[in-house]
Amino acid sequence: MQTQINNKIGLSFSQLLRSFLRLDPDVILVGEIRDGDTAQIGFDAAQTGHLVLSTLHTNDAISTLGRLDDLGIDRAQIAASLSCVLAQRLVRRICPTCLADYVPSEEEWSPLFSDYPTHLTFFKGEGCSDCDFTGFSGRTLLSELFVPSDFKSFNKGAGVDELKAEAIESGRMKTMVDDGLLKLGDTTISEILRVVPHEMIQMFRKRGSRSAPGAHDPGPASSTGRGRGFMITDPATEGIRIDQMYEEYLSLAAIIQDEEKIDRELFHRFVTDNFQDLTKTTGSHSILFNFENADGGVRITAVPLD
Ligand SMILES: [Zn+2]
Repeated sequence: MQTQINNKIGLSFSQLLRSFLRLDPDVILVGEIRDGDTAQIGFDAAQTGHLVLSTLHTNDAISTLGRLDDLGIDRAQIAASLSCVLAQRLVRRICPTCLADYVPSEEEWSPLFSDYPTHLTFFKGEGCSDCDFTGFSGRTLLSELFVPSDFKSFNKGAGVDELKAEAIESGRMKTMVDDGLLKLGDTTISEILRVVPHEMIQMFRKRGSRSAPGAHDPGPASSTGRGRGFMITDPATEGIRIDQMYEEYLSLAAIIQDEEKIDRELFHRFVTDNFQDLTKTTGSHSILFNFENADGGVRITAVPLD
């Protein structure tokens, strides 16, 4: 069932939510929480076993806690009922027709990095008739997921700043900046900097070269002969990295003059299939693929990580 609010006749968010609860639904979607009453009833409903989904306007996922504080929700109730917060921002997607890799100017990369990030490949649209010479076509999103129970300080009643500090320290939470850097084949570095909060950029810099889980970390290089490791956490969004793996495979195959190279498409399928098999059988979330020359061929080993 869906209904509209109508403040003129007293059908406010909170009034309707009260009425809905009498029907004992399993799932309630409140379009937006904008007042203390609605927030309170929403949390009461969550605490009595309903799945409540809603939206709030905040800068980032963790800041939701501050907003809920402002709306008068008791911290203990937040701790008991808040499952997770997903933050997202829209960015323009690079036009696939004129997508090309390039080396951004220092002005572009320096807000995020103190040295040029050689482990990353940047892309932009060069402009073509498909995208009216804008270099962009359609949109995609940067997102981050805050799971309160992942944070030790959360149960001790830590504030937003403290939680953000823990997110930096532990590197456990992938922020929208991290997500953007995983999507460099989809959007440009300027777009990422345009949409993410300034504070988050500073946070990223503070974290320095330490990588977030699964993000742009090239993984430990293999020490046995020539070879490299690549970490994969989501083959569906890491096409660019799989392309880099393919390049590595080709360069290893070239050394031993292996004539029977597999093509790019087959290689992508190989990585995706192995990732899915291994994550399913081991329960891991990331797989490290190591490449090396051995026994006159290219040896690829896949290691489940966590
Ligand atoms: Zn284009």
